[in-house]
Amino acid sequence: MSDKQYDLVVIGGGPGGYVAAIRAAQLGMKTACVEGRGALGGTCLNVGCIPSKALLQSSEKFADASKHFAEHGIQVEGLKLDLAAMMSRKDKVVKGLTDGIEFLFKKNKIDYVKGWGSIPAVGSVKVKLDDGGEETLSAKKILIATGSESTPLPGVATDEKQIVTSTGALALDKLPGSLVVIGAGVIGLEMGSVWSRLGAEVTVVEFLDRILPGMDGEIGKQTQRVLGKQGLNFKLGTKVTGAKNGKDGVTLTLEPAKGGDVEELKADVVLVAIGRRPFTEGLGLKELGVAMNNRGFIEVDGNFQTSVEGIYAIGDCIPGPMLAHKAEEDGVVAAERMAGQKSHVDYNLVPGVVYTWPEVAGVGKTEEQLKEAGVDYKVGKFPFMANSRARAVGDTDGVVKVLADKRTDKVLGVHILGPLAGDILAECVAVMEFGGTAEDIARTCHSHPSMGESVKEAAMAADGRAIHI
Ligand code: FAD
Ligand code: NAD
Repeated sequence: MSDKQYDLVVIGGGPGGYVAAIRAAQLGMKTACVEGRGALGGTCLNVGCIPSKALLQSSEKFADASKHFAEHGIQVEGLKLDLAAMMSRKDKVVKGLTDGIEFLFKKNKIDYVKGWGSIPAVGSVKVKLDDGGEETLSAKKILIATGSESTPLPGVATDEKQIVTSTGALALDKLPGSLVVIGAGVIGLEMGSVWSRLGAEVTVVEFLDRILPGMDGEIGKQTQRVLGKQGLNFKLGTKVTGAKNGKDGVTLTLEPAKGGDVEELKADVVLVAIGRRPFTEGLGLKELGVAMNNRGFIEVDGNFQTSVEGIYAIGDCIPGPMLAHKAEEDGVVAAERMAGQKSHVDYNLVPGVVYTWPEVAGVGKTEEQLKEAGVDYKVGKFPFMANSRARAVGDTDGVVKVLADKRTDKVLGVHILGPLAGDILAECVAVMEFGGTAEDIARTCHSHPSMGESVKEAAMAADGRAIHI
């Protein structure tokens, strides 16, 4: 017999799971959340978004002090990296936030069950408790929010010391002389930036002939140029076929993606960042008959219900962008739908941000996607070089690109490389949610001087009437 009865048991305490638990509790459901890693917040708070942004911030300050303070008339002598202090600040930021979620659970009367969950039968969650022993929870509904893990690369086994995933790259105890990053995606560019700014020689090896696949191609090219200027080396159209660990580092074997001569590349540390895959191990989904697609993602309907009644799934373990804010939206809507509400997630308007400096941000369709779909569109662009705030700050790299329907003027996509791109994109997401036009942005009063004025000017440029270019 099950000892505790719940309306909802959530398995996984990441941004999908913890947000769903809080929303469900707000809606009156008796809720428990099972989490095995010893802290709430999932990948995002523990080994993802937050620690990476803490290190991006610290490393940016270091790079500013060593390379850019002088142009502001500030001389720095005896600048030194204290990596241990930088890492402990990051750990403190993480701890503060994960503890904060525990507080929110208490406030919302959610039971936090510490251990690894499995689903022996519909309506039942068995937990292997972190402190030993087992507990079985009885649940009217079960929500799987078990997230994702780093995709392994055959022939390049990770040990989290010399050959690392993002988790190891967030916790190196020594500055590597050289770092090879496999994969020029989001993790590769963010973590590559961190270690390059701190002084490592960083080479990014990418299978495709471009960086940041999925983002607008022109913005990707400009990003590569800007990051190249900062010191990142790129080897595109190249695949890694093997790795050998040695006393003085790792030797990788590389080949052109299209075939050709093999070459070797040595590095003190190698980061494998070729994507993430859903994590559903140990849940017992096959035995239950929960349908998954050929890449292991759990299939769900519009209510986030799986093929088995009473079992739901959200976040990184279902198809869609593997992003924290998308997992949160899933979590809110899944809980609201369980409570009979009709809310939904607009997957066409999930913004994506790469927190390099300058940042890369995009929402909606890329130019490539519009071309492929045969949409008649117009483009408005505005460079940060012509933005007075960017000039005053000294951050002039990048551009805002607004894509709008040629006939209706409706905004179809916005892509930005620039300072605070992720933050200034938010207004574009809101405009697009309301089905707004480039003219709506162009006629909105933006404060001066601000980076956001570049969005306004790009929207005006879509109508051939930008003022400052
Ligand atoms: P997760 O956050 O992965 O949480 C799942 C949780 O479930 C984990 O804590 C896990 O321990 C637990 N779990 C799994 N199985 C069980 C089980 N059987 N029983 C109990 N518990 C279980 N996204 C962004 O939007 N912005 C960013 O800046 C960003 N930066 C990132 C940086 C890095 C280095 C990485 C790796 C990812 C980053 N992401 C970012 C992606 C983001 O972290 C994920 O999209 C997000 O965490 C997904 O949330 P989730 O709740 O679906 O899963
Ligand atoms: P990604 O999908 O962003 O990039 C992986 C890159 O590796 C791609 O460019 C791909 O072409 C390349 N690749 C694949 N196989 C390869 C191979 N064998 N050799 C060389 N290159 C290869 O994946 P990621 O950077 O690992 O990030 C994983 C997930 O985490 C992403 O879905 C991302 O959304 C999320 N994330 C988000 C943020 C953010 O929002 N700022 C930050 C970090 C991670």
